[in-house]
Amino acid sequence: MAIATVNPTTGSTEMIIEPHSAEEVQDRIAKAAEAARLLRGSTFAQRTQWMLAAADILEDQAEGLGELITVEMGKPIAQSIAEVHKCVKAMRFYAAHAEGFLADAPLADPSSVGASRAWTRYEPLGTVLAVMPWNYPLWQVIRFAAPALMAGNSGLLKHASNVPQAALFLDTLFERAGFPLGSFRALLIGGSEVAAVLADARVKAVTLTGSEPAGRSVASIAADHVKKSVLELGGSDPFIVMPSADVAAAAASAVRARISNNGQSCIAGKRFIVHTKVYDSFAAEFVKLMSELSVGDPLDAATQVGPLATAAGRDELAGLVEDARALGAQVLTGGTIPEGPGFFYAPTVLAGLSEGMRIIQEETFGPVASLYRAADREDALRIANQTTFGLSSAVWTNDAEEEEWFTANLDAGAVFINGMTVSYQELPFGGIKRSGFGRELAADGIREFCNLKTVWKA
Ligand code: NDP
Repeated sequence: MAIATVNPTTGSTEMIIEPHSAEEVQDRIAKAAEAARLLRGSTFAQRTQWMLAAADILEDQAEGLGELITVEMGKPIAQSIAEVHKCVKAMRFYAAHAEGFLADAPLADPSSVGASRAWTRYEPLGTVLAVMPWNYPLWQVIRFAAPALMAGNSGLLKHASNVPQAALFLDTLFERAGFPLGSFRALLIGGSEVAAVLADARVKAVTLTGSEPAGRSVASIAADHVKKSVLELGGSDPFIVMPSADVAAAAASAVRARISNNGQSCIAGKRFIVHTKVYDSFAAEFVKLMSELSVGDPLDAATQVGPLATAAGRDELAGLVEDARALGAQVLTGGTIPEGPGFFYAPTVLAGLSEGMRIIQEETFGPVASLYRAADREDALRIANQTTFGLSSAVWTNDAEEEEWFTANLDAGAVFINGMTVSYQELPFGGIKRSGFGRELAADGIREFCNLKTVWKA
């Protein structure tokens, strides 16, 4: 795949970028390794100052960067600008909290291990490779880079090939803010060249956010070299609505969850599992709201749903809907590719799904919702847990006992009660099953790429 900006609203190629040569890649790895050495010797106070300066650069350019995101991958402009501000917050958060998250932890009773003192400390691993997707071209990168750099690691970014301008911006951001040369650089390479970079002894670990095939490949290469990996892969999150819930609020939230980022979010509610007692009222409201959405130019502030990021992604989504339709699913709204240029797909709601349809198991990465009728809570849980994914989940209920039951039994990395899943810098984020392993954000995220060193003193 060429490294290029193809505007998904028009389908036209706006910029083609020359990939880095093998020599350039080697030079960037060498600089990153040297930066890791310097960062390891720097203080939290220095890194805090640089991180805050980088946050200021982002904040000052929020509008222009928002436009860049929208032109490269098509999300509505307000969401693009909000993504930039979310990055700024996370950078300031780690600037403020990294030192506390990585503080030494003394053993309360060192005599129990025959020591006068025993403690743990966190040290950086060195250079970490980040293989990142296009769906949140800044946020996915910053949520790795901010904690990694604050911990004293350096980073190499292999960004998705369809967001090269975001990659080029990030390539210089941290050096402009004062971080040592090579602290965070982009590698303009294709996915097939990742293996060689990961094999390089100067690269100590890898994090990947993206599809399951990409994650499987990268994690197995990392395992071959006995290197740490963190994977954040897809999701097909359940969104459960029980009779005690505020059904109208749940339906409104369900629409927001499903269309946020034009439906291309790993943590979006994708399967709406509704108790039979409230199914009809929820479905009527949900379908009404989904059919009223304004689809169009994402640079227009009134647009709620823009195009999908790539033609291939749109075709994959349309294929999932056609497969379900051919096997008897009901299309309650949408199910069409609008006329005209760009990679648009109409907001869609499907019902009457049955075994054998691909959509039962596969992720719908676009504005397509699946509705399921559940006979009781056991049935809702069975449907919720029946996919191979386990990223997040949402449960709408006002019954405390039921809330605890779902929280305990959902196979997921997170449960949101009476709300939609959102990633917060204060909370750990990640999945189980085929959604990946490891955690990002919060204290857990910054510790993933550290050596937890035990120190024992006689
Ligand atoms: P990919 O997983 O292909 O791309 C994500 C990143 O991985 C990109 O930087 C890509 O580079 C790179 N990559 C792809 N294959 C390999 C490989 N074998 N070795 C190393 N790096 C690789 O996602 P797609 O863009 O193709 O999207 C496909 C599906 O993945 C979506 O429909 C969705 O289901 C899921 N996805 C999930 C995301 C999430 O947030 N969890 C984000 C994006 C996608 P390059 O662009 O050069 O191929």
